[in-house]
This record gives sequence, structure tokens and C-alpha cells, in this order.
Amino acid sequence: MTDVSTYRQLNDLLLRLRSTFQVLGDWGWTGADCSPRSLGLVREWDRVPGPCHQCESLEEIRLDLGDCRRCALAAGRNKLVFGQGNPKADLVFVGEAPGAEEDRSGLPFVGEAGQLLTRIIQAMKLDRQEVYICNVIKCRPPGNRDPLPEEIDTCRPFLERQLAVIQPRVICTLGAHATRTLLNTKGGIFSLRGRFHDFNGIKVMPTFHPAYLLRNPDQKRLVWEDIQKIMAELKISR
Ligand code: URA
Ligand code: URA
Repeated sequence: MTDVSTYRQLNDLLLRLRSTFQVLGDWGWTGADCSPRSLGLVREWDRVPGPCHQCESLEEIRLDLGDCRRCALAAGRNKLVFGQGNPKADLVFVGEAPGAEEDRSGLPFVGEAGQLLTRIIQAMKLDRQEVYICNVIKCRPPGNRDPLPEEIDTCRPFLERQLAVIQPRVICTLGAHATRTLLNTKGGIFSLRGRFHDFNGIKVMPTFHPAYLLRNPDQKRLVWEDIQKIMAELKISR
């Protein structure tokens, strides 16, 4: 305990322990389980492969994606569209996949459908910087075709890690693909929308995709009903 670097390491360890106990306390833990089984698990901690998904950051997930070549969409994409917004957002919008404008800019929902989404967010008395916006698929499928199951399977862990880090109170899935992917169901958007579902303890409100609203403006009324349920859940008053 004589040299400064050992002291620094010890101090760093104590700070980490303190914040760990703070987090556990915030989660409602009231004590430590020191049974042989529990201590055995603790001994394995440093052998668990891969990152701890709740203590990583969005930047780390983005770095892990890197210049992603995990599926065939990489060949045709211009920019990977990771997501944009508040890393501590209460509300996350999840779309399907980037379109042409998003592929060019690297930002989610910036084309025509994106502008409608921006207006929906503003109608909620929020702005884009307050929420987080991303897609199930990070790269544009050629000609905006539907994502293939293997593309969804490849990209899905990254979406799940983003959601684990952000821990929003509500997720709004936009359209059939995002809804089916997140809720792991083959159900149709017409029957799933309008009520809350669960994803790992987070409330999920499926609604129609803004691109669908551009083609079917008479359905905007239903989306506004869904959005109002989200506002009530987040206690946003009109
Ligand atoms: N449609 C989507 O699903 N996502 C985007 O980012 C843009 C259009
Ligand atoms: N079909 C879709 O894929 N999305 C919608 O929002 C509506 C119909």
C-alpha cells in the first residue's frame, strides 16, 4: 500500500463498489446473498464472455458495429444508420430500416416519413432531441424491400443492446416489421396496435408506420389515439 498507483487503484475500486451498491439499492436490493452458491457465481464474474449490456454505452455499441459486414446489406449501403437522440430518453421510436435519405445522411427518419414522425413528436409536446429514434435494421435494404429474416436476426441484438442501455419507459414501434421483431410475434399490426405490450419490462405501443400514413392519411386519427396513450403513460399533458 506504499505506492501511489496502488492507492489510486484501491480508491477506484472503492468508488466502483460504492456506485454498484447505489445502483443495486436503487433497484430495491436490501442485502447481499453470501451463500456458497452466490459466492460461486461471483467467482465466475470475470469469466463471462462479452460486454455487460447494461453498463455499456451507446458509443460502445456503435463501435462494436464498426464498419459492419455481418450481413449482405453492407455491400449496398452508403451509411449505417445507428440511431439518434437522447441516450436517457423516456420514449424510443423504433422503425423498420433506413430509406434512401437515411442511407445518404446516416440519420434515422429524415426523409418524408421522418418529417411526419417529427410532426407527430412535436404534437406530443416533445422534440426529436428529447426522444431516441432508431430502426430494427441499421442498413438500407436495396430498393427499400422488406428486411429478410436473417438480416433481422443479425441486427436485432444491437437494437436490444441499445434498448437495454437507454431503458426507456415506453417504446413505440412503427409499423408491422418493428412490432413483430420486438414483440417476437407473427401478429398483424392492425390487431397489435393501440394497446401496450411488454418487452423486457418496458411498455411497447405499436402504431402504424408514418410511411403508411402518407399513403393512408385517414389512419392518422388512429395513430393519434395510440400516441395519446403514450402521452398519458409518460404523464405529458396536452
Ligand atoms: N422508415 C423507417 O422505417 N426508418 C427510417 O429511418 C426511415 C424510414
Ligand atoms: N402495414 C405495415 O407494414 N405497417 C403499417 O404501419 C401498416 C400496415
